[in-house]
Amino acid sequence: MSHSQNQQSCRIGLIGFCSDENSSFLRGAAEAPPLIRQALYSDASNLWSESGIDLGHEDVLFEAGDITPDGPNAIENSVGQLLAQGLCPLALGGDHSITFPIVRAMARAHSALSILHVDAHPDLYDDFRGNPHSHASPFARIMEAKLAQRLVQVGIRTMNGHQREQAQRFGVEVIEMKDLKDSLALQFDTPVYVSVDIDGLDPAFAPGVSHREPGGLTTRQVIEIIQSIGDPVVGADIVEFNPRMDPSGMTAVVCAKILKELAAKMLED
Ligand code: MN
Ligand code: MN
Repeated sequence: MSHSQNQQSCRIGLIGFCSDENSSFLRGAAEAPPLIRQALYSDASNLWSESGIDLGHEDVLFEAGDITPDGPNAIENSVGQLLAQGLCPLALGGDHSITFPIVRAMARAHSALSILHVDAHPDLYDDFRGNPHSHASPFARIMEAKLAQRLVQVGIRTMNGHQREQAQRFGVEVIEMKDLKDSLALQFDTPVYVSVDIDGLDPAFAPGVSHREPGGLTTRQVIEIIQSIGDPVVGADIVEFNPRMDPSGMTAVVCAKILKELAAKMLED
């Protein structure tokens, strides 16, 4: 590994949350963070973004390690510590339930925040099978707590009646997969937090997820969406990679690629 441990000058805090207890269908996402790092630092590729930024430079990535959080407050506190050190958090899941405590910490550090959410699922259930902290519910919690000025969802293709009502109630801007136009240049007018659920991609590109939903985004589309964001990206997560569903190891490589493009976008500011 050729990454930095020079925390004082680093810009991004890379942290893994090994947690899948709020997954509703399959376990395994807790095993993802070390495998994404392994793919990131693999000699099969390099650490340069497409825009020409070397993420292997000592002043870029601070390795904050992987933790097995004891509940949502532990996640919020870990992210809060990174923010207090002046680092932009880049979190690796874990299932999507980690995003609510992360955004709680983000909202304390940023008076205005918009969220770009890539997913096959809107994750707006009031609760899922009695669990309000389910990985199917984080964006209901975030919007109830008014932590985001705007929530823009891309790649959605599993909308049901309840979640459509929730989207209307919270004013969520849902760009459903069926309506997606070729180029999407998103403008927010606030700092942006980007949450990438890997099942937003088509399972042909990223089969290693707990809920495979055909008809999704290409890897290229996700990269272009990230590259075209017109405002500062101040934090991000990559969630729902399930190594148990990834026999070829391809999904770990896709996660590492998206990580590099998110990190490069965060450094653009
Ligand atoms: Mn999903
Ligand atoms: Mn999700």
